[in-house]
Amino acid sequence: MKRSLKIISVFFSILFTFATIIPVFGSEIYSIVYEREGHTITTPNGTAVAVWVALNDYSEEEKLSTRVETEERFPGIEFLGEVTGRYNCHSYAWYQRSTSNPYWLDSIDAFLADPNYMETTTPAVGDIIVYYTPANNVNHSGVIDEVLSGTSNGVCGDANLYMVVSKWGKRALYRHRGDYCDYVREHGGSSSYVKYYHMHLYTYTDRTVYVHTVNCSCMDPITEPHTWVQIGIESLFRCTVCGYRSTFTPANPENVSAEIWMQLMTRATMEDGATFTLGNMTFCYMDGQYYIVTECAPDVVIPPNVME
Ligand SMILES: [Zn+2]
Ligand SMILES: [Zn+2]
Repeated sequence: MKRSLKIISVFFSILFTFATIIPVFGSEIYSIVYEREGHTITTPNGTAVAVWVALNDYSEEEKLSTRVETEERFPGIEFLGEVTGRYNCHSYAWYQRSTSNPYWLDSIDAFLADPNYMETTTPAVGDIIVYYTPANNVNHSGVIDEVLSGTSNGVCGDANLYMVVSKWGKRALYRHRGDYCDYVREHGGSSSYVKYYHMHLYTYTDRTVYVHTVNCSCMDPITEPHTWVQIGIESLFRCTVCGYRSTFTPANPENVSAEIWMQLMTRATMEDGATFTLGNMTFCYMDGQYYIVTECAPDVVIPPNVME
């Protein structure tokens, strides 16, 4: 018993000695210490997601050797940002497309569930490519940098039709053809197919008292009524979609002449958002009631989903 314990302890001391002398097993296992507590980011709709922050990073020597090893295996990939353990592919593609991104993001589930994103089969520049394993697990994320012409070669679906910018794990940031990276099964990875995601970046234009026009690169502009929510005490309304503000006064017989009231009741359309002008007074039918539109002032529009 005593003897076997000693053998085990010698075995472990040898193992630890090697682990400290040789910092690399395979290609990318170094000792970076991460802190998780207190670090969260949010998806465009405000869902909080826990992230990791690295307390240290690789030495210049380690960065160089990792880079050389990767670029020898994948000749032709374009180096865009240094080897670092601070941020990973998901954080880069979904949260902050910058080499100074400080966060490591394990899971993109909260982003995929955010309605600001939409799956697409015709991605454009700026959209996201996600690599999946045959068991449908997310394996890697990247950003579409260029749409190429040609036909699919079947390696990870039609990934060869796109140039992608992606962070390769704890290695460097690269620009590469979608089917040509470490994550693809044909190149030693575990991904067998990809999906593409578009993030809506809505802007609101042509705002009048009654409507706004929604614009995004993925669609034709849509003009639609505001979605009012009452703010303040009585008569200030705000569009929850575009931020437009308007002051309405309920149109009651007490504050509208009998003549106008009769015309309103007989001639105006009783549909939400319908408007009706009599002389210098404008009425709006909303939630079963007429309102007199007395004033309107556009807010500063802050699109809810602008990436940093
Ligand atoms: Zn869109
Ligand atoms: Zn609006």
